[in-house]
Amino acid sequence: MRQVETDILIIGAGGAGMYAALAAARAGMDALLVDQSLIGRGGATIMAQMTVAAALGEAEPDDWHLHYADTLKAGRGLCDPALAELLCREAPVRIREMDEWQVGWARNDKGIAQVMAPGHSRQRCCYVDVLNTGPAIAATLRKQVARENRIRRVSNLVVTDLLTDAEGCAGAFGYLLAEGEPVAISARAVIIAAGGLTKLYRRNSASANMGGHSYHLALQAGAELIDMEFVQFFPIGHLAPRLVGMDPIMWDPFRYKLGGRLLNGQGEDFIGRYDGSNAEGYTTTRDLTTFAILSEVAAGRGTPHGGAWLSFRHLPEADLLAAFGPVIDKLRKNGIDLSSMDVEVAPIAHYHMGGIRVDTAMRTALPGLYAAGEAVGGANGANRLSGNAIPEALVFGWVAGQEAAQQAAPRRALPEAALAAALETYQARLQPAESGQDVIGALEAELPGLMWDKVGPFRNAADLTAALKRLRAMQIELATATAGENPVFNMQLQSWYDLRAALSSAEAVTLAALERRESRGAHQRDDFPTLQDSWQRNLIIRRQENTLALSKSPLLTVAA
Ligand SMILES: Cc1cc2nc3c(=O)[nH]c(=O)nc-3n(C[C@H](O)[C@H](O)[C@H](O)COP(=O)(O)OP(=O)(O)OC[C@H]3O[C@@H](n4cnc5c(N)ncnc54)[C@H](O)[C@@H]3O)c2cc1C
Repeated sequence: MRQVETDILIIGAGGAGMYAALAAARAGMDALLVDQSLIGRGGATIMAQMTVAAALGEAEPDDWHLHYADTLKAGRGLCDPALAELLCREAPVRIREMDEWQVGWARNDKGIAQVMAPGHSRQRCCYVDVLNTGPAIAATLRKQVARENRIRRVSNLVVTDLLTDAEGCAGAFGYLLAEGEPVAISARAVIIAAGGLTKLYRRNSASANMGGHSYHLALQAGAELIDMEFVQFFPIGHLAPRLVGMDPIMWDPFRYKLGGRLLNGQGEDFIGRYDGSNAEGYTTTRDLTTFAILSEVAAGRGTPHGGAWLSFRHLPEADLLAAFGPVIDKLRKNGIDLSSMDVEVAPIAHYHMGGIRVDTAMRTALPGLYAAGEAVGGANGANRLSGNAIPEALVFGWVAGQEAAQQAAPRRALPEAALAAALETYQARLQPAESGQDVIGALEAELPGLMWDKVGPFRNAADLTAALKRLRAMQIELATATAGENPVFNMQLQSWYDLRAALSSAEAVTLAALERRESRGAHQRDDFPTLQDSWQRNLIIRRQENTLALSKSPLLTVAA
């Protein structure tokens, strides 16, 4: 087994992880930045499209207090006010720093271009280029990280277990995906920046490595999760016709620039029925639009594939070309001509508001363990505003790196018992697979459908109870599954660890969704269809022995 030592270990190299590594290095620490994919090229950051919310005030007067008020309102009373404040207050600092690093924010005659996005009260969202903001942010951070001698980067290393002792988190265990070689990492502080969990769902905007590792690692080590029931469903994910080589959430930039009309299967504007708006602009928040589309479908007014129509046919072709020239050509290659046809859209799992519970120093309940980015829960409450996730990754990443550096524990030996247990689990997988059975493959195929059908945008007690029972049974089936003897490029081994993380994250989402007997933001219950003041509470989950224990916070007084 390879043994490695560092000051600060950062798990996950998206926006949060790369920023954390920069902050730790600039505070004088050695940082080890590892990713199960390639550094700065896996996860959600590189996929982000067009919106980064920060109260820069370049398009019109703005102030972080206004951004904060919008964030709290969108969060439907469940935001952690201190985290939301940190996000909104520090977003402009990070966005201007990215500007100095030449990320290439789009500009107009007023300065950095900022557009309106649903739920924001000001033109606040900056971008680099249509559909190209995430790649530019990731590339800029990769460059900064590469310049820091104190940051060591290791791609294709999957962290499977955190190693803890009586004093807290002392490092991690993982393995190199290609070689299959186990690695033990000793660290003075550890930051989880391994992203969210939307790959758990059948319809999702995720890449392969957004499967809930953050939450599993945190639970297993003894940290707490908060409000796991709040999975954001992006309302207008592409549904039909078939679209190859383009992102399913690509209609968002179209709506920022061109508006567009959202129509039910009978050709009616329907959003106004749900939020009282005039349906003209693109202003309705994601939770309400998701609810509205699915309600129309449930009432028999959906489109042929079960969604809504998105139409730009009322716009002159010249406007479409001026706004999206090259993209329009790509769409044509897919047989989609927006000037003469509508497309079908429907909700798609996109982001996770819940996550690891931290304070404003990004500290978890376990000493020495920090978290940052989408892995963290609480800042966005029950519903996230468009454009808040990238600043969350950058701001929280920076804070986690700085705080971990300032508070790093003295170097100590790796906890032997924890390391032995992690190694034993790894070695137990590398046994001949049972002939004629593909337990791992079958579970992997089953999970996304189960989550979509029973823990999706509309929920009820019967479905959630059935899902919880099945998820627990699946964990038992997985526990003894083996991946074959050869560790080199063993994809079954990777699937086993992915599934272990996915199933425990899925259990946490389902448990919290069953407990929350109301409808609020992204969590909608058929059997409890209204928001209840008595439920203005956070749900906290922690591991106790081998089960998940859930508790409620006292009533919150955050403005909804
Ligand atoms: C298609 C898409 C478009 C989006 N558009 C926008 C937008 O326009 N504006 C906005 O604000 N937000 C947007 N978001 C959301 C935003 O991109 C994310 O919330 C944010 O980038 C998360 O950053 P992160 O660093 O926390 O996680 P990520 O960028 O997801 O990085 C996590 C990293 O952790 C690695 N990892 C996971 N598990 C392990 C493990 N066990 N060991 C080692 N490494 C591991 C992954 O490989 C990955 O590289 C979008 C998301 C998607 C999917």
